Amino acid sequence: MQKVVENMGFTRIRRVAPIDVSTHGGRAKCLQRLIRLDLPVPPTVALSFETVRGIAAGHVPDLDALIGTFGPDALLTVRPSSEDADWGGPQAMLNIGMNDERHAALSESHGAKVADAVYLRFITSFSINVVRLDPESFGPEVKTPADALRAYYDEMDEDFPQNAADQLREILRSMARAWEGTSARLLRQARGAPADAGLGLVVQRMALGMGPGESGQGVIRFIDMDSGERAIRGRYIRQSQGHPGFVPVGQDNGLARGENCLKDALPEIFDALKEMGEICRLKLREEMQIEFTIEDGTLSILDAIRVQRSNRSAMRVAVALAEDGIISREEAVLRIEPRALSELLHPQLDPKGARDHLVRGIAASPGAASGRIVFSTAEALATAARGEACVLVTRETGPEDIRGMHAAGAVLTQRGGMTSHAAVIARGLGLPAIVGATEMQINEKARKIKTPDGREFGEGEVITVDGSSGWVLAGAAKMLAPGQDDAFQRLLGWADTFRDIGVRANADSRAEAVVARNFAAEGIGLCRTEHMFFEEDRLVVMREMIFSDDPDDRAAALERLLPMQRADFIELFQVMQGQPVCIRLFDPPLHEFLPTDRDGIRALAEALDLPVSVVSRRVQDLHEVNPMLGMRGVRLGITYPEIYDMQARAIFEATIAASEDGDPVVPEVMIPLVSTKREVELVRARLDAVAAAVQAESGVSFEYRLGVMVETPRAALRAGDIAQQVSFLSFGTNDLTQMTYGLSRDDASRFMNEYVNKEVFAEDPFHILDAEGVGELLSLGAERGRQARPDITLSICGEHGGNPESIEYCRRAGFNYVSCSPFRVPVARLAAAHLALKQTVSKS
Ligand code: PEP
Ligand code: MG
Repeated sequence: MQKVVENMGFTRIRRVAPIDVSTHGGRAKCLQRLIRLDLPVPPTVALSFETVRGIAAGHVPDLDALIGTFGPDALLTVRPSSEDADWGGPQAMLNIGMNDERHAALSESHGAKVADAVYLRFITSFSINVVRLDPESFGPEVKTPADALRAYYDEMDEDFPQNAADQLREILRSMARAWEGTSARLLRQARGAPADAGLGLVVQRMALGMGPGESGQGVIRFIDMDSGERAIRGRYIRQSQGHPGFVPVGQDNGLARGENCLKDALPEIFDALKEMGEICRLKLREEMQIEFTIEDGTLSILDAIRVQRSNRSAMRVAVALAEDGIISREEAVLRIEPRALSELLHPQLDPKGARDHLVRGIAASPGAASGRIVFSTAEALATAARGEACVLVTRETGPEDIRGMHAAGAVLTQRGGMTSHAAVIARGLGLPAIVGATEMQINEKARKIKTPDGREFGEGEVITVDGSSGWVLAGAAKMLAPGQDDAFQRLLGWADTFRDIGVRANADSRAEAVVARNFAAEGIGLCRTEHMFFEEDRLVVMREMIFSDDPDDRAAALERLLPMQRADFIELFQVMQGQPVCIRLFDPPLHEFLPTDRDGIRALAEALDLPVSVVSRRVQDLHEVNPMLGMRGVRLGITYPEIYDMQARAIFEATIAASEDGDPVVPEVMIPLVSTKREVELVRARLDAVAAAVQAESGVSFEYRLGVMVETPRAALRAGDIAQQVSFLSFGTNDLTQMTYGLSRDDASRFMNEYVNKEVFAEDPFHILDAEGVGELLSLGAERGRQARPDITLSICGEHGGNPESIEYCRRAGFNYVSCSPFRVPVARLAAAHLALKQTVSKS
């Protein structure tokens, strides 16, 4: 019998019926599970994707046979059943089979009011949603079934179909065709559905929820959707089918609160629902929302869907299910998308809040913040001192803006890309940032910005920066607070037990190191020492050093820098409590450290006690046409070796000091922007000499590890030579991407959108590692390095380090760890665990 029914294009859902998500959709499969759990589900028939495709092409199954499976006089519902509920589907249709005859019978059995409501609703919804008549023809003046039947006749010149099979045919056709329509297709593809995603349908016998005795309809769930905490929530509406747009006939009651609630009115049914909820949780291994109907005191379960939830509640649910032994820890970890964590680390826009979009740039640092527009560090500090939130808006940022960035709640720049100064610093600070908002005009004189639609916003006006989407919004948008609760810590703790690649953080300050430790980073993978000189008083000394044109002046400046550096390193070593700290020797691209305007030049002249004209000339002398390819990195260290000598001394003295009363420290010293083996030899010889000198002076011995940053294509190609000199290689994929493509980190935002839109680049390569090109250099460098020195430590420390895609690449290439901004450490830990777990699953 079963076979015959299937061959007719539909399947009565029973315990043993062949229902699969990939052939009949999620809803049909879930209903089968509910039936298998002995829940009181009304008779239900499933139409497969194939059948529905056939219907769209005009091949409708034998509907008399289908209707026959429900017995005489049943009213039916049809609901969509796509593979994934998020892909959408046509609206459900209820009360199919209503006609004049049933109307009369229902008036007898349930009373005229119920019969009228059910029939009127069916005619209206059939006319509007299936036949697509003008909704205005069924407006408020259409009050009775007779009015609606007349309106239908007026529009159609024929009577409303009275035969259930005719009604069902039209409904199935209309649903099947709506699914094939362009807008539905585009919508579901935007939600991740494949182009050929199918639609299944389920036809179910109606449980009316109206009529004599206790009747009504409701939903119940067992968690709070926002927090994920276990709590009974829902609603129960008496004498109703309770659907949106339908005015309920009867009284509106709360489910579990209030005097007349379901719990008190029908305690047995309430308890039965609770028990069913527990069964679903246990057997379906999920928090489900149950849709139910009570008809004359009898409970029916119409459907159960996974409770919609925020990322925060998803995490709590997964942890609770694992702790109750319902799912494994592995599964709990796999149920949380790594990128979803950033929502828990930063304030986010409330998805339900209103938005007034102004301009879009590159989403450079996640989270959202609102504040008054300020155009300079001074204004940012003044606004913050008044206790008011502000957003720092500039063309681009430089070292003198760091204090402003600290004071501001968010940053918005017109220029720059994912690895620009503003983006890198904001990510380090955990500050929402949008960079490269090229369509925004900044009028610094008038202290205004102008958006592409011509609106102007002046200093002091409030805007919102959503660094997660890249949108700038007018006014203060509604926010959701971040949340890192127990569940967050527990889940990440589990993730750590599964992953097989290390995660360190890029941190240059005590505050960043503390964040890194709190997020359980396994050390610092990159400390950009030039960033330790962004504070105003230190910036001057740093500039003095860069400015010195004779060795004595330079020595004097270095003398002042030494104790600062030493103190900084002691602090970092102490915070990290014996974990590895990788310190990169100075790599200051000069243009980031030279004053750019008259005020800056005057301030520097004062500090150096020199005439402005001399300072101006020196700035001109130091000016480089192409500073990112100029006197930076190891080139500075080779040209002025005393600079790296000072840094080495600071590192080694700090090592001794921090090891005295803390965990022993083995510092890692890293040379930036290397392209030849000889550069490494020269620096290494000096570092060894400084180490020997410090050991001799102090009488304390220590070890240190030397490494090279692979940031130039040549360093990757010659990694074999270089590896012989060092114990680790760390791939700086920001510069490596810049140099592999010949693409300026600071200027590419001008055309990046165009390039991505026209699919010249699949993604911004500064954001998502270019696995084909830059990736090949990574693999090649890793392989050659390992060949020359099998125990070499390999890592990545460019901004890509926190992206799940890059972690996957590095893990495959056998890297030891990835290093990323402290706020991205949790995402990286979870992503790494996913990769390891997925590999285990695919192997088994
Ligand atoms: C890099 O180039 O990838 C890197 C980490 O160094 P920076 O961003 O400081 O140039
Ligand atoms: Mg670099």
